[in-house]
Amino acid sequence: MNSVDLPNYLKIKNDLPKGVNLLAVSKGFGSKSIESLHSLGQQHFGESKVQEALQKDYLLNNKLNIKLHFIGRIQSNKIRKIVENFDFIHSVDSYSKLLKIAKISDEIGKSPITMIQVKLEDEPQKGGMFTDELIGKWDSIKMIKGLNIKGLMTINPKGLSSQENLNLFRKCKSLAESLELPECSMGMSIDWKEAVDAGSTWVRIGSSIFGKRDV
Ligand SMILES: *Cc1c(COP(=O)(O)O)cnc(C)c1O
Repeated sequence: MNSVDLPNYLKIKNDLPKGVNLLAVSKGFGSKSIESLHSLGQQHFGESKVQEALQKDYLLNNKLNIKLHFIGRIQSNKIRKIVENFDFIHSVDSYSKLLKIAKISDEIGKSPITMIQVKLEDEPQKGGMFTDELIGKWDSIKMIKGLNIKGLMTINPKGLSSQENLNLFRKCKSLAESLELPECSMGMSIDWKEAVDAGSTWVRIGSSIFGKRDV
């Protein structure tokens, strides 16, 4: 599927304050969409499935200065491919996956910028570390050599009011600040404004830029 909502893309770019980065979430969309956004200067693209991202392999081998971000659920057996092919990983949800990322980063001499996904509400189907769990493990996490942890990522539950979204994003931001992490990956098409108000540094926007996905 190929499409780009150009006016919306430009409007979002224009509305984002300095210091907030736009990650264009291109999952479900093909090379043409990606190329046309890239030709407008968009550098950061997000994918949530390893296989799908690697099929768009022109991205990975090309000379375009595209930065690829992994934002999906991480299966342990895909970590090597993720570390090899992505510049950023937003969605690490366990200590053991951090260990594996560090081990592979060391082996191949490349360490992606990493964020830890946190779960601020108890949603069983969703990935992420709970706040208490993250704080409890933080000293051990900091001891892992070769990791490049720069921030936290969160996905808010669906159906929240604007105020509820804002409150959760603020929780994520203050947790990041208490751990002295500079980056916060939060906000999607429906809630990026609240995320920006709460101090997001990476908004992850798909459908508002590319249109509705089939999947
Ligand atoms: C798909 C996805 C997005 C983008 O969602 P939109 O609603 O299309 O903007 C952002 N973050 C994650 C983790 C996603 O999987």
